[in-house]
Amino acid sequence: MRFDVVIIGGGAAGLMCAIEAGRRGRSVVVLEHNGRVGRKIEISGGGRCNFTNTNTGPKNFISANPHFAKSALARYTPADFVALVERHRIAYHEKKLGQLFCDGSSRQIIEMLLRECAAAGAEVRTNCRVEDVRRGEGFEVLTSQGAFFCESLVVATGGLSIAKVGATDFGYRLARRFGLKVVEPLPALVPLTLSHEDLAALRPLSGVSVPSEIRCGGASFAENLLVTHRGLSGPAVLQISSYWARGDALRVDLLPGRDALEILERGREHGADAAPLLSRHLPKSFAQLFCRLHAPPRPLRSYTAAELHALAERLHDWRLTPAGTEGFQKAEVTKGGVDTAELSSKTMESRRVPGLYFVGEVVDVTGHLGGYNFQWAWASGHAAGRYV
Ligand SMILES: Cc1cc2nc3c(=O)[nH]c(=O)nc-3n(C[C@H](O)[C@H](O)[C@H](O)COP(=O)(O)OP(=O)(O)OC[C@H]3O[C@@H](n4cnc5c(N)ncnc54)[C@H](O)[C@@H]3O)c2cc1C
Repeated sequence: MRFDVVIIGGGAAGLMCAIEAGRRGRSVVVLEHNGRVGRKIEISGGGRCNFTNTNTGPKNFISANPHFAKSALARYTPADFVALVERHRIAYHEKKLGQLFCDGSSRQIIEMLLRECAAAGAEVRTNCRVEDVRRGEGFEVLTSQGAFFCESLVVATGGLSIAKVGATDFGYRLARRFGLKVVEPLPALVPLTLSHEDLAALRPLSGVSVPSEIRCGGASFAENLLVTHRGLSGPAVLQISSYWARGDALRVDLLPGRDALEILERGREHGADAAPLLSRHLPKSFAQLFCRLHAPPRPLRSYTAAELHALAERLHDWRLTPAGTEGFQKAEVTKGGVDTAELSSKTMESRRVPGLYFVGEVVDVTGHLGGYNFQWAWASGHAAGRYV
């Protein structure tokens, strides 16, 4: 079976690459080991697929080379994907912060991609497990459905999160076997766990969500923090998890944009106690527990200036050191991946191995939460599709 282009992985990036290459008249086949394509698209965004973010820019991505993603992102923008969605009459809405979701089901995005593949003449094979790749004149791809020969081979096998929907380390293994460097793949956009001690202290707050700003690893995110029975989650925690390294403390501002000292001083003047006072600004159960842990157990009026300052400081800079992450089973993405220094940012082709391309999450480009990871998959798939 001979094709100009073989694409391993029928996810977001692989399908977009197939569409673009097929439109150019290349003969294309997508090889997907699952029984159907786009399983991660299906489960994304709570079943509604947050398919892009209108605020996408290079600042929304993490990579050892922060410039790498610029070229592909500039050549295939959120507006380009929205135009495709509109052409297929898929209804969508902005949830918040530029995040676009389907009104109906994420299946609509998969059906759209499959219709585009068919229109572009790209073949899609499911239940096709890729077992090995050999290089000769071109590439020989050995699969459970026989051998495929091609000139251009695109690896679109995604990251390691959620093995039960088909994630494998095949792309990383293949890259290493061809001599390409791989930045260590780690779980990202993932809930963080706490030590037994911290967990015991915070357990009564399990299920409580607090608006906050969290800083760590040079980044900061202002969104909700959720206390869980294992540790911390919620959008602010998922976002900061991509910047967190073992041993780092999270610095949590529980009153972002407000002056805790002024609130406490004013409360003291009016004879208030710390917990009821802070309950006006934080969920009541949270304020009560926080005060039990960090405020002297006396009326505010009896606090010394140093005690008042210390409590205000804690409210703006509450430090928590996570014990770890909940791992690839709970991570939304994988950070790290094929080192961008190995690839052309224009074509996504390997510099060492001409004809070999890597697109999507398998590459060391990781988006923030909010539709950015799909935008990278579309943009990088499209970039390669123009050259394969
Ligand atoms: C629960 C969840 C929700 C998410 N929600 C969002 C969201 O709303 N918005 C957003 O932007 N991002 C979201 N993401 C992230 C997003 O899904 C991924 O970043 C994106 O799917 C990456 O696209 P990809 O094509 O690179 O990889 P994938 O979509 O993972 O596709 C890779 C494909 O390769 C196949 N494959 C792997 N190994 C082999 C092999 N050896 N042979 C053949 N096939 C193989 C896999 O089965 C898979 O179909 C979410 C992720 C998860 C886990």
